[in-house]
Amino acid sequence: MKIHEYQAKEILKKFGVAVPKGRVAFTPEEAVEVAKQIGGFAWVVKAQIHAGGRGKAGGIKLAKSYDEVYEHAKNMLGSKLVTYQTGPEGKIVKKVLVEEALDIQKELYVGITLDRSTSRNVVMVSSEGGVEIEQIAMESPEKILKEYVDPKVGFMPYQARRLAFGLALEGEAFKNAVKFLLALYKAYDETDASLAEINPLVLTTDGQVLALDAKMNFDDNALFRHPEIVEMRDIDEEDPLEVEASKYNLNYIRLNGNVGCMVNGAGLAMATMDLIKLAGGEPANFLDVGGGSKN
Ligand code: GDP
Ligand code: MN
Repeated sequence: MKIHEYQAKEILKKFGVAVPKGRVAFTPEEAVEVAKQIGGFAWVVKAQIHAGGRGKAGGIKLAKSYDEVYEHAKNMLGSKLVTYQTGPEGKIVKKVLVEEALDIQKELYVGITLDRSTSRNVVMVSSEGGVEIEQIAMESPEKILKEYVDPKVGFMPYQARRLAFGLALEGEAFKNAVKFLLALYKAYDETDASLAEINPLVLTTDGQVLALDAKMNFDDNALFRHPEIVEMRDIDEEDPLEVEASKYNLNYIRLNGNVGCMVNGAGLAMATMDLIKLAGGEPANFLDVGGGSKN
């Protein structure tokens, strides 16, 4: 299950992960109220949709007055945002996050996920933040540092120090980064997340280390343990056909082709899709209606 950036930041804050001051707003008036509450002289208005790549698509705007906060929020709310992650149909912006603007010295990257080949959680950092990490992984993989977590002992402080050292941080910034990484891992672990990605993680000019962006996905099989996270589900952001299928506990994923598939069992469903592809066709969906053929 996916959630919005503002929701991920609410969760992270509870675990002691440093995030900028901010709050979600549903109207331009409310956005100005939030800016007044935060104080300061500059704010960032951020479109809340279940997709990244907002910066380049006009979904992240800097405001230097309450009027600008109002204008940016007004322009974003109700508009359609098309990023490289939304596909050409884009997503309608229904809420914005208003945050204090920070003085950024450096944009870094940190991501935690499950590495299936080693069956361990992996904590990855890179000094090349704010850009597409997939590109870095392809072009210069040596710029991504990794620590694999032994499930018996968890993510150890020495591992966090090794990563912070690898990011070439010193003094207060080093200490803040170690604290940040340990808190982020705790949040990932205790919420049964399948992904916690902070891109960018920023170092401010005064040595603070904060999550400027936050993406968290959760393991659907563990959601029964986290009713407070289930409440964060935003059906508006999900594919209506997939929402309908989930009501009946069906494993359904919409695809772009024109050959409909209704198959018993995930393995057979995958094989069927492979066969369609092999024959030059395109499946319209993945659907596993359950492995028990006698029903
Ligand atoms: P994404 O494009 O959807 O991943 O959205 P992000 O939240 O990562 O923001 C994109 C970019 O906007 C960041 O990499 C920053 O360069 C910039 N940005 C976001 N918030 C701030 C801020 O408070 N101050 C400054 N100076 N830049 C910001
Ligand atoms: Mn980002």
